[in-house]
Amino acid sequence: MPKDSTSKRDPRYDILFEPVKIGPVTAKNRFYQVPHCNGGGYRDPSAAAQMRNIKAQGGWGVIFTEQVEMHQTSEITPFIELRLWEDKDIPGLARMAEAMKTDGALAGIELAYSGVNGGNLYTKEVPMAPSHSPILTFYKDPVSARAMDKQDIRDLRRWHRNACLRAKTAGYDIIELYGAHGFGVIQHFLSPLTNQRDDEYGGSLENRARLFRELISECKDAVGDSIAISVRLSLEEIGGLENPEVRDMIEMNADLPDLWDLGHGTWEDCSGPSRFTEEGAQEPLVRGIKELTDKPVVGVGRFTSPDAMVSQIKRGVLDFIGAARPSIADPFIPRKIDEGRVEDIRECIGCNICVTGDMTMSISRCTQNPTFMEEWRKGWHPEEIDAKGETENVLIIGAGPAGLEAARAAGERGYQVALAEAGTELGGRVALECQLPGLATWGRVCDYRQHQISTMPNVEVYFDSRLSAQDVLDFGFENVAIATGSTWRRDGVARHNLLPISIDDAMAIFTPDDLMAGKLPEGGHVVLYDDDHYYMGGVLAELLVQKGLEVTLVTPANLVSEWTLNTLEQHRIQARMIELGVNIITAQAVTSVEAKGVTLACAFTGRTRTIDCDATVLVTCRLPNDDLWQALKAREDEWKGAGIKKIERIGDANAPAPIAWATYAGHRFARELDVVRGEDELSFRREVTELAPKETFR
Ligand code: ADP
Ligand code: SF4
Repeated sequence: MPKDSTSKRDPRYDILFEPVKIGPVTAKNRFYQVPHCNGGGYRDPSAAAQMRNIKAQGGWGVIFTEQVEMHQTSEITPFIELRLWEDKDIPGLARMAEAMKTDGALAGIELAYSGVNGGNLYTKEVPMAPSHSPILTFYKDPVSARAMDKQDIRDLRRWHRNACLRAKTAGYDIIELYGAHGFGVIQHFLSPLTNQRDDEYGGSLENRARLFRELISECKDAVGDSIAISVRLSLEEIGGLENPEVRDMIEMNADLPDLWDLGHGTWEDCSGPSRFTEEGAQEPLVRGIKELTDKPVVGVGRFTSPDAMVSQIKRGVLDFIGAARPSIADPFIPRKIDEGRVEDIRECIGCNICVTGDMTMSISRCTQNPTFMEEWRKGWHPEEIDAKGETENVLIIGAGPAGLEAARAAGERGYQVALAEAGTELGGRVALECQLPGLATWGRVCDYRQHQISTMPNVEVYFDSRLSAQDVLDFGFENVAIATGSTWRRDGVARHNLLPISIDDAMAIFTPDDLMAGKLPEGGHVVLYDDDHYYMGGVLAELLVQKGLEVTLVTPANLVSEWTLNTLEQHRIQARMIELGVNIITAQAVTSVEAKGVTLACAFTGRTRTIDCDATVLVTCRLPNDDLWQALKAREDEWKGAGIKKIERIGDANAPAPIAWATYAGHRFARELDVVRGEDELSFRREVTELAPKETFR
């Protein structure tokens, strides 16, 4: 349970808890969870509904679905969102609305007609857009949308009315039409880039806004007596619907929708990672818009600080604090502010790992909140945890993100916890990585847990405590977690080179661990070989340039930091590399290291060439630091005599992965202490699509 449920709110924050009218409905406060994906969607309806219910418990005034594909002629397969194509889809969406409304929040549904952004790979319908256009999707599907004729537009309007009626049956209070991020048909009509029509729907801004006016008016006619109709727009489309024209359009239609929900630009801008975007970065684009309309204005900005939120409201920038990621990292932000527990807020670090769940069509994770999307699957509540089981104590070895989260969660359960750390500070890899260019905000992974642990009398931290197997056996804790982290390889092995490569001893070789420990090449030309493909290669290239070195980044991928396509960072990372003067060589692998240079092989033809360098940085992959685990495993027959019931390796010491995997592993370890599960039993609940009635096969 929340530690203190009596309101001790700082009066400075009272303004955040004022009710705000949205058309025919009223939000109980100014916290507006804007639509966000979660990778679950129609495949995991109960998991998604329970996730939204947690936000209801956390005190949000408005809670939205992710984008809901409102008609079968426009869908965005392979991405897994929600669907409202026929009456059959109503019960799933009704369950979600019910989950959103338990604590007095308004339930919002975002209707999306994706136009040029939907390839219809699943329904096989021909996509439709304002003008003939290739489909503009992440995958560059070789498919086009045809221009809508007048009948298509009439159909589109009818589909919207039908979707509104279904949304009403499902119990929603706000219907928001999606016209942001380049993903919604309203924006496609508004934008001179995607609308080249010469009829009354194209040309002037007034014409381009015609469909918007028709859709909003007709949705209002259909359900507007009891349901608010809002629109989500982007504040800036470079080279298209730019900010001044967005303002003109809002002024022209000032009071038509019941609310203006304003995103930044593209999704990459709107979900700007902390590496490139500060909290509140949208402000210059949204400031002044409230003066153009009497309707409430929502904006986003990775807001986690109540002071920043209050400032937005008091200065008349926004009426509602819109939040997606901050509400994922901490669904209880409103309640924590209300209860005077601001220091307990688990602040989003802006890493965009949550986005990767959608991009990989898996299910989302959050680096800061390991319970995200596990609320139903595993029954994990972000603020509640079972009291401890029959054992009493836990030793956690290693205070990186895995060990810290294990200690925090086991402490919350009431175990006696000892956290032993070889070094002199908490945080493990996070403490090191947050010193690297652009990653300072990631330090919040450690800060939050450090603070929580500091309030728990049953958690003791021991520094300078590099434990051996003998130490662990001597201490005799009932439960032991080995969270000793990982080490970057120095032998060239990763994805391209599956076996160690030849490396001449005369070459100065560095790994990310060396660089983070302050051991840097002395000067000259450095080849940084990135076969890891996440952030580390690009971040270290930036560090080396800052230190005055000439850097060539070599990668067997076609893009720098290629996996960051999934965190919406790739374009900015590659742009940053180009602007820093990093020499970029893609589709080439380092296959051997000589005394004065490296041999590169083309990733396609295998053809080789050599380039000279003075030092080589290998950003390849990591190996678990599992010596302690291996030593203990070899002495398993002594565990029982020492009073040990369980030893587990967790996080990078088990298998290296991003930080979110480590916090998840630490959390899971703590949750599962003293929990007995059947052998081979699934560790989570899942929903299986109901089979249609049996048919006879030939
Ligand atoms: P993870 O990401 O899995 O949490 P990290 O590499 O961030 O892993 O953290 C591992 C931590 O474990 C580091 O702070 C390291 O100093 C500590 N550590 C490694 N070996 C030992 C040991 N034998 N005893 C105590 N602490 C250790
Ligand atoms: Fe924030 Fe990262 Fe969590 Fe997403 S995964 S909500 S960006 S901390």
